Amino acid sequence: MNKYRILLYYKFIDIEDSEEFTKEHLKLCKDIGLKGRILIAHEGINGTVSGTVDQTERYMNELKLDNRFRDMIFKVDEANEHAFKKMYVRHKESIITLLPEDDVNPNEKVGKYLKPKEFYRMLQREDVIIVDGRNDYEYDIGHFRGAIRPNVSNFKEFPKWIDDNLSEYKNKKVLTYCTGGIRCEKLTGVLLDHGFDDVYHLEGGIVTYGKDTEVRGKLWDGKCYVFDERISVKINNTNEDIVIAKCTHCGEESDRYINCTNDDCHKQHICCEKCEKEQEGFCSDNCRQYILEHPERDARLRLKEKANMYKRYNQNHEKAKEVISKLNKNYSA
Ligand SMILES: [Zn+2]
Ligand SMILES: [Zn+2]
Repeated sequence: MNKYRILLYYKFIDIEDSEEFTKEHLKLCKDIGLKGRILIAHEGINGTVSGTVDQTERYMNELKLDNRFRDMIFKVDEANEHAFKKMYVRHKESIITLLPEDDVNPNEKVGKYLKPKEFYRMLQREDVIIVDGRNDYEYDIGHFRGAIRPNVSNFKEFPKWIDDNLSEYKNKKVLTYCTGGIRCEKLTGVLLDHGFDDVYHLEGGIVTYGKDTEVRGKLWDGKCYVFDERISVKINNTNEDIVIAKCTHCGEESDRYINCTNDDCHKQHICCEKCEKEQEGFCSDNCRQYILEHPERDARLRLKEKANMYKRYNQNHEKAKEVISKLNKNYSA
């Protein structure tokens, strides 16, 4: 039995007292002992948190006591540990941000929802285009077969990208998908605003699709990028599961993202285990050179400090073991 869980959820609903609610909500989460990131705005709530089974259970129950969130859908992943280091609850202008002139309200305008099985069928039609509703670096480690790669690194860039790249497809059906479904709530509205008439999105997102017992992630290639310490999760649970990304250094198949050892770069890049060791986690020779000149910006110092702290206090939990073994394995040089 896994002792931890990760919850992913959102809801677009008027939160009148959103600033006050944010404060109360942070207190609730801290009292329970959860970790994660929650955004709250006048338009709703968008969260991903981790905690023990008891903690996450208590949180879901508490949230559902509030009439506004009674029908909240939680996507639940089993885990062996927390997926976050801290608990943030932040008040924002919006929970999924577009430029003000592009913004849409999913409660007024939204595409048609498709269940995993319906989405799977639609993926195979001739008269559709499949548009990945995420960022380019998410697409690169995994996506639905045949999906168009959006050349965006921020959700705000989508409306312009759609105008520049998709105009010729206005007579097609458009299928969109994203990690948990929230981005498509707005993306489909944007597509409708930009002259597409037949717009669909995957209900519950990629993670729900992977858990569906009938489709089991079919037609998904690679891994699904997630915004927590796991970095990516498996979706295709059939024997068609493949790796599609390549190591930045050697070009071998890999879907491991690591952060550059240069703290002033910190670039997330795909790197196989062998190259991580050989390149000491640097994304480039420039970054290696930079650290020779600025040794205090070496991420390994932080790792060493952490490992020493764990050793000093004789800590032996999963996280401590991981940090110590990472230090020994990759950076023993
Ligand atoms: Zn490599
Ligand atoms: Zn770098």
